[in-house]
Amino acid sequence: MTGKSAIKILVLDDESFMLKLLTHMLAKLEFTLVTTCDSGRVALESFDSPNSSPDLILLDLNMPEMDGVEFVRHLVERHYNGSLILVSGEDERMLQTAEKLVRAHKISVLGHLHKPVKPKELAELLEKWTPLSPNRPRAANKIYGADEVRAAIANGEMVNYYQPKVVVATGEVAGVETLVRWRHPQDGMVFPDQFIGVTEAHGLIDDLTRVVLTGALAQSKVWQEAGLVLRVAVNVSMDNLVSLDFPDFVAGLAAKAGVPSQQVVLEVTESRLMQDTRASLETLTRLRLKRFWVSIDDFGTGHSSLAQLRDIPFDELKIDQSFVHGAWANETLRAMYDASLGLARQLGMEVVAEGVEDRDDWDLLRNTGCDLAQGYFIARPMAAADLPGWIQVWQVRVGEELLTGR
Ligand code: C2E
Ligand code: CA
Ligand code: CA
Repeated sequence: MTGKSAIKILVLDDESFMLKLLTHMLAKLEFTLVTTCDSGRVALESFDSPNSSPDLILLDLNMPEMDGVEFVRHLVERHYNGSLILVSGEDERMLQTAEKLVRAHKISVLGHLHKPVKPKELAELLEKWTPLSPNRPRAANKIYGADEVRAAIANGEMVNYYQPKVVVATGEVAGVETLVRWRHPQDGMVFPDQFIGVTEAHGLIDDLTRVVLTGALAQSKVWQEAGLVLRVAVNVSMDNLVSLDFPDFVAGLAAKAGVPSQQVVLEVTESRLMQDTRASLETLTRLRLKRFWVSIDDFGTGHSSLAQLRDIPFDELKIDQSFVHGAWANETLRAMYDASLGLARQLGMEVVAEGVEDRDDWDLLRNTGCDLAQGYFIARPMAAADLPGWIQVWQVRVGEELLTGR
């Protein structure tokens, strides 16, 4: 690792007092290659000479001429590949929002500091600094072409993984969500975010859904015959729902597999739903008439959550993981979580909280009476063959620790 004295740090703040104070604190922590600047515009000019871009910038958000958010936009244009620490007198929520914004631009943020800055907090953030290679691959995710995806579907390279949904009050395993993976002959396991977009854009989603659904129904039947009655959920795309014969297609597959419609859940992502409400309204209503379960996924992340609930009689609401994990400690998340839960209750829907990652998340669900839980704390998505073994381990865990207070 690079020695502290070799890290180039820029402190950008319009108050000269803050510049002196932060430089002093940094010197005490043995960071000596520190420059200061009191205006974003001047800082950017200095970047344009060779080798002058800093490794780390301590950035004040509130500056009169060019504020911190605007400064970040200019950094993006210049392909800045160092890190940032945000500094501000704004409240925690404002700082968190700013941090998210910077992350969305794919710039590394070590964290934020409230003014007045405490030396200990500064030191803790600086601990997180690691040098980046200049050509660091950004989001190394490969993008696949439509032909590759089409061939993969035809060749049986798409495999279903299953993630349990459990009843919070009793620990009982209520069902599973089917999550597709591509077992790529060269690249190993490829996750859906890397190919669903291409699949939808090239009209291949009906083929993929058929394969996933057929596999999930067959698996459901196998479990049923082994005495495991599980509700099996499958993710469907908006593009599936605009074809009006989709309900008959699903009903046909379920009948052929011998699985009752009440045991099949179709999860629809809310943010995609709003694009063509009329067709999806008709398709979803007919699916419900056939007694399939319909679930609104990623609830709260779209722009018309309430309108969707008004128009479509969903059976289940899934609170998006971004409002669940950590909600016990964050007022804003907690407000979103509570509101989603309350809404679902009043409309008589079953509520699933996604993204339950630790015991604190689990305890929040228990204390607020959420119906179902899903997330890494309970289980990661797994191959079908691993489910019976997991259930045994889970039951022991439930009996020993999960239904009691800590
Ligand atoms: P989703 O429907 O919201 O599925 C949940 C995603 O969160 C899954 O990612 C799952 O592995 C992940 N997850 C589960 N528990 C946790 C947790 O505790 N913490 C965190 N951070 N993540 C958790 P995955 O499998 O990569 O799937 C991503 C998305 O791809 C899914 O999001 C779904 O929208 C889509 N997808 C998956 N399979 C299919 C499919 O067969 N058809 C369609 N159309 N979309 C699919
Ligand atoms: Ca889902
Ligand atoms: Ca989701």
